[in-house]
Amino acid sequence: MVVELLAMLDGLPAPPTRNMAVHVKPAAERALRDGHPWIFADSIRDMSFEGEPGNLAVIFDKKDRFLAVGLYDPQSDIPIKVLQHQQKTRIDRGWFERTLQQAVSIREPLRKGGNTNGYRLVYGENDGLPGFIVDRYADTLVVKLYTLAWIPHLNDVLASLVTVQPCKRLVLRLSRNMQAQPSKLYGLQDGMALIDDMPDVPVVFEENGLVFAADVFAGHKTGFFFDQRENRARVQQLSAGASVLDVFAYSGGFSVYAAAGGATQVLSVDISEPALNAAQHNFALNLAHGTIQGVQHDVMVADAFEALHRLQSQNRKFDVVIIDPPAFAKSQREVDGALAAYSRLAAVGTTLVRSGGTFVMASCSSRVKRDAFFNIVTGSATRPLYNQVYTGHAIDHPVRFAEGEYLKCLFATVE
Ligand code: SAH
Repeated sequence: MVVELLAMLDGLPAPPTRNMAVHVKPAAERALRDGHPWIFADSIRDMSFEGEPGNLAVIFDKKDRFLAVGLYDPQSDIPIKVLQHQQKTRIDRGWFERTLQQAVSIREPLRKGGNTNGYRLVYGENDGLPGFIVDRYADTLVVKLYTLAWIPHLNDVLASLVTVQPCKRLVLRLSRNMQAQPSKLYGLQDGMALIDDMPDVPVVFEENGLVFAADVFAGHKTGFFFDQRENRARVQQLSAGASVLDVFAYSGGFSVYAAAGGATQVLSVDISEPALNAAQHNFALNLAHGTIQGVQHDVMVADAFEALHRLQSQNRKFDVVIIDPPAFAKSQREVDGALAAYSRLAAVGTTLVRSGGTFVMASCSSRVKRDAFFNIVTGSATRPLYNQVYTGHAIDHPVRFAEGEYLKCLFATVE
């Protein structure tokens, strides 16, 4: 399989042979010593030469002692992202293999659990591979790249990946920024299969014993949001006999769990009709699960804010309301707008919860910090919230530095 993979990637440039030597400002030296993986452009004091995307940057302190080695991308506001701190090491196939093996080992409890074979296998910086994501969907691996800097290293890192985690299909996804530069992609395309030993088999996987299909070739991110697995399981626990509203439902992750937990009715709302078609398909895949057959599942293709107001004006009430919006703040400038949007959603969302029911609201904007999010949601609720539980990341989304933390979710009973 490795041989086949290498043939597909033959046309890619080889890893650069010359490394850049870089000095950074004192604050960045301190951050590196603390294990932070990012060097911002304005922290760089000097570079031995102007590198290309994918050059390795060896960073020294002012006394020329080794600090770290990182991957260089001149296009980024964060041109160097660290691969290895403190210890001098060759970044080669062996290093990739060790690093990936460690990532695989961290997820062992999930694999061993036996009823989950879809989860994040590599979470970028947090697993030592900046801008490099791998999601596992049973026998399919989906690699998503966020920087051109990976292209010269792709042969090595993918050969290492399929060594530590054999697969039958390997799909490549590219960030929007990469897709916008086709002349720099050497023929790589978003959604291309680099390995496919089962071309006609749909991508289906299990999460906590429930079955889901995902469009790994074109769906959001890599096709599914594994980060919500534990929150979905919590929703399942709360759903016996409940009517459930799932807003920003995408392919129905929360909705299916609610149904599996014994919900009587589930309403999935999303602005995307294809997403809701996928949600219906995911319900169908789980009909064997006793409780799901009898559930009334409705979908509403609508803007979430409008849908919530419409439901409010109809005086509808639900036992469980889940609101899991997309990232509202992609940059620092957007944080205030995001908080205002969370506030509006929490206000109208809480009015829709039947007394004694549960309100669930998540944020996946890393720019919006935990406290700010929980404060705005609890402060905007129109009714008192008690039994508040705040959840964060599961083991397949380890957090190795502050900016790696993005997911936060509130569960609360509404008076
Ligand atoms: N809860 C989902 C993930 C949500 S992803 C899960 O567990 O898998 C965010 C979803 O919000 C996407 O499906 C997107 O189509 C939808 N979305 C984005 N903007 C929207 C809007 N204004 N109104 C309704 N849905 C929206």
